[in-house]
Amino acid sequence: MVNSQSQSTQGQTYDLIIVGAGVIGAWTAYKAGKNGLKTLLVDAQKLGAGASGGLLGALMPHMPERWDGKKQFQFEALEDLPREIAQLENETGQDCGYNQCGRLAPIMNETKRGQMQGHGANVDEFWHGRYQWQIVDQPFEKDWPNADKATCGLVYDTLSARINPRGLLNALKAAIAHDDKITLLEGVALESYDAFKKQAILSNHEKVLFSHIVLSAGVQTFDFIAPELKVVTQALGKPIKGQAAMLAADIDPNWPIVFDNGVYVISHGSGKVAVGSTSELEFADPFTTDEKIDDAILRARQLCPLIKDAPVIEKWAGLRPRAAGRDPLIDIMPEHRNVIVSTSGFKITFGVAHKMADVAIEHILGDLKTVVPDSFKIAAHLAKARRAEKQDNLS
Ligand SMILES: Cc1cc2nc3c(=O)[nH]c(=O)nc-3n(C[C@H](O)[C@H](O)[C@H](O)COP(=O)(O)OP(=O)(O)OC[C@H]3O[C@@H](n4cnc5c(N)ncnc54)[C@H](O)[C@@H]3O)c2cc1C
Repeated sequence: MVNSQSQSTQGQTYDLIIVGAGVIGAWTAYKAGKNGLKTLLVDAQKLGAGASGGLLGALMPHMPERWDGKKQFQFEALEDLPREIAQLENETGQDCGYNQCGRLAPIMNETKRGQMQGHGANVDEFWHGRYQWQIVDQPFEKDWPNADKATCGLVYDTLSARINPRGLLNALKAAIAHDDKITLLEGVALESYDAFKKQAILSNHEKVLFSHIVLSAGVQTFDFIAPELKVVTQALGKPIKGQAAMLAADIDPNWPIVFDNGVYVISHGSGKVAVGSTSELEFADPFTTDEKIDDAILRARQLCPLIKDAPVIEKWAGLRPRAAGRDPLIDIMPEHRNVIVSTSGFKITFGVAHKMADVAIEHILGDLKTVVPDSFKIAAHLAKARRAEKQDNLS
């Protein structure tokens, strides 16, 4: 059910309140419904209004070396995603724009080429022989990317994929709307909650009751949890501004993502190519675009000359949540077992949000099956936050 602000929830009781309808909150609500949980999903603005409503949608794996829990979690998530997307698309008839198109990354010198060969030495062990990570000598197609940028070859992997962020969110919204167990309230913020009393106060002055609450409010999540964790908010997590753009160019939708030095070029099909992104710790206005995206567009055009004259259709800016530990943050709050925090995939969220949602639901059902890396847990993020507090003298 999608409800407007006028729909009253006053005094109602929910199994679960989810705060924030970005890609994490929307997947969590979708999965809560599948598990029969009576769920209220609230967003201060609307579903997809935050970082998740952007343009890029790169799903890029960590390097297949120095394997650890974080890499295993992401690998399993990326492998599961096509099945999850197929199910969502079947249920809703909506296209999420998913394509396991692979990725090409130019190599500029022999030293780098040697390093890259080393990074991929154990790919068959970690990726189970199902995906390639190899050095190729030629660009995928003429000028995709510019051969001048790949003087020492390119890294080509076949695990990388892309998704249309807005297509995915529309599909999740459609699935939520068809599920009687879920109520989506847009334009209504969580003002405060009391985990002992299991009460939440919303910005429309209504009080609702819950068994569990999931905090997936993007950058705002840090404000909610910092006081209980007794840490300064900025030490726990920061907003990182990013800008991206959509260009009109008829590039084969099956061509790989091109990635070089922080610049992505992604063919989304239907005559659209996304480029970006910037990473800005300091900014005057989070939501306006400026010369930094123009510079990224220029670099993208040099990287892929096939888009050198492509008109810009849209420029977009938003704030990514980045926790102190940089990794996703998914855990139960230490003193309130009915409060679950889920945020901060930083640049990999679209590839792991569905699995973070599984973890949240398993916590709620008291049956955690998914192996959650220690680096995703509150203790690890808190330790890094405390170090940051000391270094920056933030306390
Ligand atoms: C330019 C750019 C490019 C990116 N490219 C990629 C990429 O290629 N691949 C990738 O995986 N990731 C990428 N990311 C990162 C990714 O977009 C984010 O990590 C992800 O969208 C975060 O999702 P979220 O659900 O945690 O937060 P958000 O999408 O920010 O959602 C949080 C929601 O909470 C709501 N909210 C806030 N406070 C409250 C409150 N008090 N009550 C109720 N609601 C509240 C907000 O309105 C918002 O809708 C990119 C980000 C940017 C900025």
